[in-house]
Amino acid sequence: MSFSLAGKTALVTGAGRGIGRAIALHLAEAGADVAITYARSEAAALEVKQAVEAMGRKALTFQADAVDGARAEAVITAIVAEWGRLDILVNNAGITQDTLILRMGEQQWDDVIDTNLKSVFNYSKAAVKPMMKQRSGSMINIGSIVGVNGNAGQTNYSASKAGMIGFTKSLAKELGSRSVRVNVVAPGYIKSDMTDKLPEATLAAITAGIPLGRAGETDDVAAAVHFLASDEARYITGVVLHVDGGMVM
Ligand code: NAP
Repeated sequence: MSFSLAGKTALVTGAGRGIGRAIALHLAEAGADVAITYARSEAAALEVKQAVEAMGRKALTFQADAVDGARAEAVITAIVAEWGRLDILVNNAGITQDTLILRMGEQQWDDVIDTNLKSVFNYSKAAVKPMMKQRSGSMINIGSIVGVNGNAGQTNYSASKAGMIGFTKSLAKELGSRSVRVNVVAPGYIKSDMTDKLPEATLAAITAGIPLGRAGETDDVAAAVHFLASDEARYITGVVLHVDGGMVM
C-alpha cells in the first residue's frame, strides 16, 4: 500500500521543464528509473537527469521532437536495450497556439494536432510491443479539461486533447487483456510557462472560477500520475482523471 515504483522504469516526454519535469522527479522519488525527452530545453533536461541521479535512480535523456515517429521508436528501443523493460509511459509533451478560428492558419492547426496528438500515437505505438511482451504497463496521457469542456480560442488545442481521450479509451480496450493500462490525467489551470503567457486578467478570472480557490501546482498533476503509474491503480484503465481543483464536475 505504499505506491512504490521501485524496480520500475519510466519515460516522460517533454520533461525538461513544467509539468513533465515535476512528473519525472516525482516518479524518481517514488523509486523509478526515469528517461526523459526534450525538444529544445537541453540544459534543463540535463538538470532533471542530475536531480534523478541525486536520488539514487538511473536517468537517461533524449533530444527528440515528439512529432517524429521514427525517433520515438528509437528512444523506446534504446531504453529497453539499456534497462530491459518499460513500465510507465507518460505522454506529456504539448503546446498551445491559441487564436479564434477566423484567424487560425493551417500551420497552427497542424502544429498543435501533431505535437499534442500524433506524438501520443508515436510513443504509445512504440511502447506497446515491450509492454505487451511484459504483460504489464501503465500509459498516462496528459490531457486537459479543455478536451472535455472546450474553450474559445483553443479549437486546435481542445481537438487534440479530446482526440487523446478517444485514443486512450480505444487503446485501453485493445491492451486490457495484457494488463497494460491506459489513462488520461486532465489538468485544469496549472502554473507553468504555458499558462504564464496568458494575460493577468484572464488568469484572475480563471482562478475565481476554481472551487478549490487556487491555481494548481505542477506537483498536483505529478501526484495523480504517480498514483496511476503504481500497482495500486491496477484495476483502473480508460479513465479521465481531472486534476483541476473542481473546475469540471
Ligand atoms: P510547458 O511548461 O510549456 O512545457 C511544455 C513541454 O513540452 C516542454 O518540456 C517542451 O519541451 C515539451 N515540448 C513541446 N513541444 C515538444 C515537441 N515537439 N517534442 C518534444 N517535447 C516538446 O507546458 P506545461 O504546462 O508543462 O504542459 C505540459 C502538458 O500539460 C502539455 O501536454 C499541456 O497541454 C498539458 N496541460 C497543461 C496545463 C497547464 O495549465 N499548464 C493544463 C492542461 C494541460 P522543450 O522545452 O524541450 O521544447
